[in-house]
Amino acid sequence: MRQEKKTGRKFYITTAIDYVNSKPHLGTAYEKIVADVIARYHRLLGDDTFFLMGNDEHSLNVAAKAKELGLDVLEYCDQMEEEFRRVWERLNISFDDFIRTTEKRHEETVRDVLSRVYEKGDIYQGTYEGWYCVSCEAFYRDKDLIDGLCPLHQKKPVWISEKNYFFSLSKYEKPLLKLIEEENPDFIRPEIRKNEILSLIHSGLEDVSLSRSSTHWGIPLPFDPNNVVYVWFDALINYLSGVGYATDKERFERYWPADLHLIGKDITRFHCVIWPAILMSAGIELPKSVFAHGFITISGERMSKTLGTALDPLELADKYHADAVRYFLIREIPLDRDGDFSIERFRERFNAELANDYGNLLSRTITMIEKYNQGRIIPPKKDDDEKLKAKAVEVIERYRKRMDALELEEGIKAIWELLRAANLYIDREKPWELAKQQARRERLTAVLYNLAESLRKISILLYPVMPEKTSEALAQLGLAKPADELSIKEVEEWGTIPADTRVRKGGHLFPRLS
Ligand code: ZN
Repeated sequence: MRQEKKTGRKFYITTAIDYVNSKPHLGTAYEKIVADVIARYHRLLGDDTFFLMGNDEHSLNVAAKAKELGLDVLEYCDQMEEEFRRVWERLNISFDDFIRTTEKRHEETVRDVLSRVYEKGDIYQGTYEGWYCVSCEAFYRDKDLIDGLCPLHQKKPVWISEKNYFFSLSKYEKPLLKLIEEENPDFIRPEIRKNEILSLIHSGLEDVSLSRSSTHWGIPLPFDPNNVVYVWFDALINYLSGVGYATDKERFERYWPADLHLIGKDITRFHCVIWPAILMSAGIELPKSVFAHGFITISGERMSKTLGTALDPLELADKYHADAVRYFLIREIPLDRDGDFSIERFRERFNAELANDYGNLLSRTITMIEKYNQGRIIPPKKDDDEKLKAKAVEVIERYRKRMDALELEEGIKAIWELLRAANLYIDREKPWELAKQQARRERLTAVLYNLAESLRKISILLYPVMPEKTSEALAQLGLAKPADELSIKEVEEWGTIPADTRVRKGGHLFPRLS
């Protein structure tokens, strides 16, 4: 089975790695959920998928937080790793590897990459003077600040003046423009972020600081151990180290370059300007695409750890189930813009779409199969429901097109058309009336079969978004299967439910919220 679904394609997806100075909030979780949906979708297609996540530990914020708690920094990072892994597990995030920037495999990679850049002649010594926001871990010019404050944190940055090493970013202006405008038009998505980056490059790039001399928390430069690598250069390189650059040549060669770096829209400059420039300098193949998603507000307020308006994804998952949280975020917020999370809206969608449209269709169908067919799904001898079948074909085609384009909410909308069609089908065919007439026996069998078949398709298509609940639905239909054996191919054909499959009624998938 697993053999059959292979496409021969590989797909390597990454998320931003997170500072561990506080627990993940809903905004952090959103990005990981999106990446997980995309990764699971590619596994469903049969692509050889590698999904990387991780933690960013060489941050001054992290060191400060550990000190505040009276802990050794590494000890603190170990505790936070457990904390993060617990959240990701709870939300069903199926990463293949988890990289920490304090790991040896990462240090080796950073040193190797920076040595290449140094040998290329793209690193020189100078003095950095300017503003630094510790929360962003970013350097700012006067004109970047708003009323003298960091535009993201509304905090006063610190003025620093130190001897640093610089990376000759300005040398890469033309190659970057060529990359983005000619060679790979999909390098930066969505369009709005691409235009921002293009105008930034057109306005002229300055060389950037690549090291810090005032801290020891970081990776020493291979050519001057008295300085540590600036945390952003360190962090970006995780995309190489996490896929085996220094430790697993076979894995690295199979998956690199990354097919998709999924990041937030606030860190595009690092990923779309600095990152490709470092790789060009080091002579390493470039990633294929960077997608910058929007921010989530909570009932209209910007969510931020620093500003104290974060929402705990674990609490939501405990109360409503992780799959419902995943579904809402993906369905509600188009990936290319900002979106809002409000409990009212969440509950509305939960009741209307999950409890009613999907959950009820499943429990009604199974109840009728038990009542009228002794719990068996029986393939019909004759069946002329071409309309429902045509709908399924059309929906699957649209679903694939939208998912491939990362219009995930549109992919869900397509599935919902099949759900609605199946619900209407029950209303129109009225199985409870067919059951009263012996002469319509054959017809009743066909209607029940077609409902089960629609639910099978719907559940497999929805699997990337709601892995647990859709597996439960398949189990109730008597079609339980290990997740890694699910395949888009089996959705494309109508009528593959084996004869005499027995349904197993369970609880309601999403009990209505009152
Ligand atoms: Zn800041």
